[in-house]
Amino acid sequence: MKNDRYSIFSLLRETLRGQTGWKPAWRDATPQPSYDVVIVGGGGHGLATAYYLARRYGVRRVAVVEKGWIGNGNIGRNTTIIRSNYLLPGNVPFYECSMKLWEGLEQDINYNAMVSQRGVLNLFHNDAQRNAYIRRGNAMRLHGVDAQLLDVDAVRRRLPFLNYDAARFPIRGGLLQKRGGTVRHDAVAWGYARAADRLGVDIIQNCEATGLRMREGRVVGVETTRGFIGAGRVGLSCAGNSSRVAAMAGLRLPIESHVLQAFVSEGLKPFIDCVVTFGAGHFYISQSDKGGLVFGGDIDGYNSYAQRGNMPVIEDVCEGGMALMPRIGRVRLLRHWAGLMDMTMDGSPIIDRTPVGNLYLNAGWCYGGFKATPASGLCFAHLIARDEPHPVAAAYRLDRFGRGAVIDEKGMGAQPNLH
Ligand SMILES: Cc1cc2nc3c(=O)[nH]c(=O)nc-3n(C[C@H](O)[C@H](O)[C@H](O)COP(=O)(O)OP(=O)(O)OC[C@H]3O[C@@H](n4cnc5c(N)ncnc54)[C@H](O)[C@@H]3O)c2cc1C
Repeated sequence: MKNDRYSIFSLLRETLRGQTGWKPAWRDATPQPSYDVVIVGGGGHGLATAYYLARRYGVRRVAVVEKGWIGNGNIGRNTTIIRSNYLLPGNVPFYECSMKLWEGLEQDINYNAMVSQRGVLNLFHNDAQRNAYIRRGNAMRLHGVDAQLLDVDAVRRRLPFLNYDAARFPIRGGLLQKRGGTVRHDAVAWGYARAADRLGVDIIQNCEATGLRMREGRVVGVETTRGFIGAGRVGLSCAGNSSRVAAMAGLRLPIESHVLQAFVSEGLKPFIDCVVTFGAGHFYISQSDKGGLVFGGDIDGYNSYAQRGNMPVIEDVCEGGMALMPRIGRVRLLRHWAGLMDMTMDGSPIIDRTPVGNLYLNAGWCYGGFKATPASGLCFAHLIARDEPHPVAAAYRLDRFGRGAVIDEKGMGAQPNLH
């Protein structure tokens, strides 16, 4: 008998059987002629959508078509940070919904995604920034989200190795969200894929959507490299490739694709016990369970569909790191890579119907979509199944740019490369 459910008992049984009884995590599905719903894009959001469609909304004839392999996109490339420390009413309930789903995710999908609520600490360096963080913390608490303002002594007790005294940007304190933290990113893709597969979802890898077939203003299926697949409804969840895929239906999205890099150092003894973000530059860092420092910074700053980054940004990110914690200057960089960011003009995502019948869009995650994965999947599944927005995602409309109802969390204006 093959093992289906992960538990301490199945682990013990397989230990005694020489690990011969495990089932593949998901089937290598062959495309069927048609489905009720086809999701284009097997990243975290696409897989979570398929899972919640089957699990919560009872839609079982679902396929996810992925042009590469599960985990090749941003879901396996991000710096693994989760948090719900948002300011604006359009955002806080959505990201808090996601945080609550993270908190029960591993039991829900029966998969160890290494959810670690180790805390996210945003440092501030001057009075104006302190005021802004107090405001953010208050907004969070008004929405029932945890937030704690730390003075510099409290930060120093927790992170004694930061540059406090000789710094160009002295640290004055920080805003801590204790329930924030990290999750092993590719385990999220594998876990959702496995759980969706168990509910009958077909996960079809190496299957690129090359066109959307339309009839009388409605989409009726997806042309793929493995043939035509008919669909009652089609959901686009293509992250950095969203504009290209939406263009197949004649849609021009308010999205630009940009490159973002991530970095991992050699393994070190544990010394950073939370996620830390620099307030005077773009730099954020945590330490993985293997000991590597996982960090990142700004996007590369030019439009591209290539999943590779440039040298000047490596230097820029490392400079940010050196300003915050000079001790990392002697650490060796082990690897770095890049992903494709679907940047909207206000920095907030889109989960909405499109002007094309039966075609739904999930996009515009900028560099913050990993933390959103569970709520994004749930809300997109809700939208596709019920044809109405989920209450916590009601603000993420495609037409908000035309209506002037932007959700500009950072107050940066219509500049995608600044969000
Ligand atoms: C370096 C980096 C660091 C980041 N750090 C964080 C972080 O710390 N916290 C956070 O919240 N977010 C972070 N993000 C952002 C986050 O990873 C993304 O917003 C999120 O993963 C995007 O959703 P996804 O997982 O569905 O994307 P993806 O995994 O990219 O999924 C999209 C999928 O669509 C597929 N696809 C595209 N075109 C087609 C087609 N024509 N046919 C079929 N399939 C297609 C792609 O192959 C891909 O697998 C980071 C991103 C990067 C790159």
